[in-house]
Parts: sequence; C-alpha cells; structure tokens
Amino acid sequence: MSEDHSVQGTLSLVYRLQTMDVEVFRLVADIQDAAEQIQTAVAKVSDLETRAEETMQEVANLEARRRQIDLELQDTERLLAEGKKRQKDLKHPRDIQAYLSEMEFRRDEKDRLEDEMIKNLESQDLLKKRLAEIEAERVRERESLELLKREKETENRAREEKLAALDREKVEVEQGFSQDLLKTYTRLKGSHRNGIVVARLMEGTCEACRMTLPPRTVTEVKKRQRIVTCQFCQRWLYLPERGTEGENVFQGSRVKGVSPTP
Ligand SMILES: [Zn+2]
Repeated sequence: MSEDHSVQGTLSLVYRLQTMDVEVFRLVADIQDAAEQIQTAVAKVSDLETRAEETMQEVANLEARRRQIDLELQDTERLLAEGKKRQKDLKHPRDIQAYLSEMEFRRDEKDRLEDEMIKNLESQDLLKKRLAEIEAERVRERESLELLKREKETENRAREEKLAALDREKVEVEQGFSQDLLKTYTRLKGSHRNGIVVARLMEGTCEACRMTLPPRTVTEVKKRQRIVTCQFCQRWLYLPERGTEGENVFQGSRVKGVSPTP
C-alpha cells in the first residue's frame, strides 16, 4: 500500500472506500431483490396449489352428491314401478285419490332429481375444466420458479464472490486510513443521505447534490491543500485525477435520491 498522506491521497482513498461501500450496498440490495422475486413466485405456486385443492374438493363434493341423487332416483323409480303394480288393486275412490297424489309427488321428485343431476354433471364438467387450467398454470409457474431459483442462485453466487472480494479489498484500503479518518468517514456515512461522504468535483459541480459551486470553492479544491466541503450538501469534495473520471459511483445506482451524472 503506497503511503500518500496528501489531502488528495486521503480523498482518493476515501473515494475508493465509498465506491466499494456503494457497490456492497447495491449487491446486498440485489440479493434481497432476488429473494423477494423468489418469494413472490413461491407464493404464486402455493396459491395455485390451494386453488387446485379447493377445486378438487368441490368436484369431490359434487360427485358425492351425484351418487346420492343416483340412489334417490333409483328409490323413486322403484316406488313408481311398485305403485303401478298396486294401481289395479285399488277400488275405493279415496285410495285412488291418495295413490294419484302420491304418484304425482313421486314424478315431481323424479323430475327434480333429474334436473339436479344434469346441473350437477354440468358443474362437474366446468370445475374439471377449470381444474385442468389451474393444473397447467401450476406446472408452468413451478417450472419458471425452478428456473428463477437456478438463475438467482448463479447470480447470488457471483454477488457473494464480489462481496467477499470487496471485503478483502476494503480491509486493505482501510489500512491506509488513520483511525481518526476512518471514524469520521464512518460517522459521516451514517449521517449523510445514502452514505455518500465524498463527492467528485465535476466541471465546477458537486457530483452528489449537482449544485454549481462558487469559483472560490473550486479554486480551493484545486489547491489540494485541505479537505473542502460542498457548501450545499456538506460532502467532501474530491478532484479526481485526469483519466479516472470515467467510472461513476452514481451510475445506475439504486441509491435513492442520487441521480446519475450525465
Ligand atoms: Zn454537494
């Protein structure tokens, strides 16, 4: 580790550390996001499983009722047939009247049961079709869940590797820090929005808050003799070396409220 105790050297170290912290933040957020995506997909599959079970139960209930109707129909038909046999033995008008009302009641009962049977079978057909659709969707969602899991596992492995590498690199960079500076950085990281402590000075503008700084401040920063803070957002202003301006800590940042520098 090269020892550079100039202000510029210090700020360049802080900036490196901050870049790593932002990257760690992004990686952790991406891992969380992956977990949430998997959770959503798992919930979808389990919702379809519940719906499939409920529909199967409905079909089973209808089927049980259908068997019941079947038995009731057989009974009714038997009673009607027996009645017909009894008919010729009836002489008394009162018995004939009672017989006729009973037969009418039985025939109505038979009609009612046959209607219910048709409706029952139609409902079963409909539910079975719906069940097949739910099952097909469940299979599809299950497959895409497995795919998503594998994809996220691969991505997370790469993220974990990057995190481990960043951890090692951070330890190395932090060795170049004085304890005081490290403490100040840690404190500022907690108090500044989004943990951004150092902002690059880019064409007279603060990278973090995008405010144009007065020429006097710019001159002060360019002197590189002391740490100059942005008067608008209080961040340490860092003047990058020529040629290192390409990499932007804010680029594509998930950090809310920090817009990418154009
Ligand atoms: Zn600022």
